[in-house]
Amino acid sequence: MKKICFLFALLFLISPLFSLSKKFKYNDFSLTAFYKSELQPGDALFVRLVFECKNKKLIKSLGSTDKEKGNLALYRLLEQDTVAEKASTKSQFYEIERKATKKLIKSVLLTGAPLSTFAKAGDYVTKISFSAFGNEDSVELPLKIVEKEFVSETIPLNESNTAIKTNLSKERSDQIKRLNAILDTKDFAAVYETKAFAPPTPALRRTSFFGDRRLFAYSNGKSSTSLHYGIDYGIPTGNEVRSCGRGKVLMAENRISTGWSVCVEHLPGLYSLYYHMSELKVEVGQMVDKGDLLGLSGATGLATGPHLHWEVRLNMEAISPDFMLEDFSFSSEK
Ligand SMILES: [Zn+2]
Repeated sequence: MKKICFLFALLFLISPLFSLSKKFKYNDFSLTAFYKSELQPGDALFVRLVFECKNKKLIKSLGSTDKEKGNLALYRLLEQDTVAEKASTKSQFYEIERKATKKLIKSVLLTGAPLSTFAKAGDYVTKISFSAFGNEDSVELPLKIVEKEFVSETIPLNESNTAIKTNLSKERSDQIKRLNAILDTKDFAAVYETKAFAPPTPALRRTSFFGDRRLFAYSNGKSSTSLHYGIDYGIPTGNEVRSCGRGKVLMAENRISTGWSVCVEHLPGLYSLYYHMSELKVEVGQMVDKGDLLGLSGATGLATGPHLHWEVRLNMEAISPDFMLEDFSFSSEK
């Protein structure tokens, strides 16, 4: 008996993602939700929903129209079972898999909501409202946000880097507007990558981390603060930079602040960015697979030396790229 208990305890301890599944049963169908119950600020709350209907009569009556839709919102529990304070924006589910026969309809939906790097630690509950097979309901998933410490750093900028950082030209503001317009787009048909990302370089040396609180000290004595949105890999010029996942190239251009840059779309609202390259190997509109060559590393744009800046954005917000290296969509769950 003792041995069995020990085994259970061990399985719990090595459970890599604190991932949970909850099954909700209804008369005609079931709903299973997979999610990570413990997150850090800067992570993302991804939820995988599996709707299954085995009622043949109902399936026959449905035809081929989409009957499953859901909305996800994250609420902070102020007190148990009382009105909750909204802590994150709503995020719409999209379908990533479907199996439909005369006997079974199985629809797999996914969505992700970014958690700010300033998210407060505490107990939260995710509320999912949906309508499926003629039923409307909502279910709640408890989760915890734990503390995370971020690095603070001061970066002295020389004259040319100060000029880039304080550049107020129309050209630079147009570049920023154009990229923001891409990142602000959610194409619900853009389901390209649902498995764990791969790092864009095998290099392990990191010179800056996600979420670093930065103070830029300008050459003119002034300064500004900002948050570091990605990971900086300290690699020499000319190293291969590869796509972290399958997707569509939506930007490949030389930008004033980020140099030769690439943006790849992976899922609705989910994008990866690669900055400061010396050379690009892709064009806008091109599909890339995970591991495909995007360009070569360099020191273009605002850079104090050769490095690769890798960034991931979800619904406009920068999230931890390391988080995406895990099975964020619970793709191993069937
Ligand atoms: Zn960077």
